[in-house]
Amino acid sequence: MAVAPLATAAAPVADPGAAAVPRTAEALLAAGWTEIRPGGLEPPKRRSIRLVNAHTWEDLDIVYLTRGVLIDESLQAISQLMRDHRADKSIPIDPALIDELYMVHASLGTDEPLHILSGYRTPETNAKLRKRTRGVARFSLHMEGKAADIYVPGIKTLELQQAALALKVGGVGYYSKSGFVHVDTGDVRRWGS
Ligand SMILES: [Zn+2]
Repeated sequence: MAVAPLATAAAPVADPGAAAVPRTAEALLAAGWTEIRPGGLEPPKRRSIRLVNAHTWEDLDIVYLTRGVLIDESLQAISQLMRDHRADKSIPIDPALIDELYMVHASLGTDEPLHILSGYRTPETNAKLRKRTRGVARFSLHMEGKAADIYVPGIKTLELQQAALALKVGGVGYYSKSGFVHVDTGDVRRWGS
């Protein structure tokens, strides 16, 4: 498949209002778009993600979508990395969350992997965190595998928050003092400072 030359700096964007689409040809290619046409974008045929569990330092560099189809084993490996490390329990992580993480990460144009501070949480872990930490929701989407707290080395928390907000695909919590951003696949909303 033909790949548009990177010289097409101002890549055509199907919907200029859709901030989920990376803005430059380089970013588009990095994000997995295999072809950029004058009329718009070819949807991604292949997506891979690089993750680090910031507690156990397990890492993963894995293709999870190919020819438009999700790869079960990859989703399982990602779910395992994003497990509740306190309880050592995992559930399937929502593929929409994986895509969200992928898009945020790709739009940053960094070589550093995405670090997961918190992915899945058991109800018990969530209750413990709620006692200790302000801002932990009782019915947290973490308990459904639909939320992650993330950071990327070398990327300012503010920049990460802006990248997540630009996607407009779910909730974005900003925890500047703790140095992470919460993203989830719930309603589009924002909080934090
Ligand atoms: Zn969170």
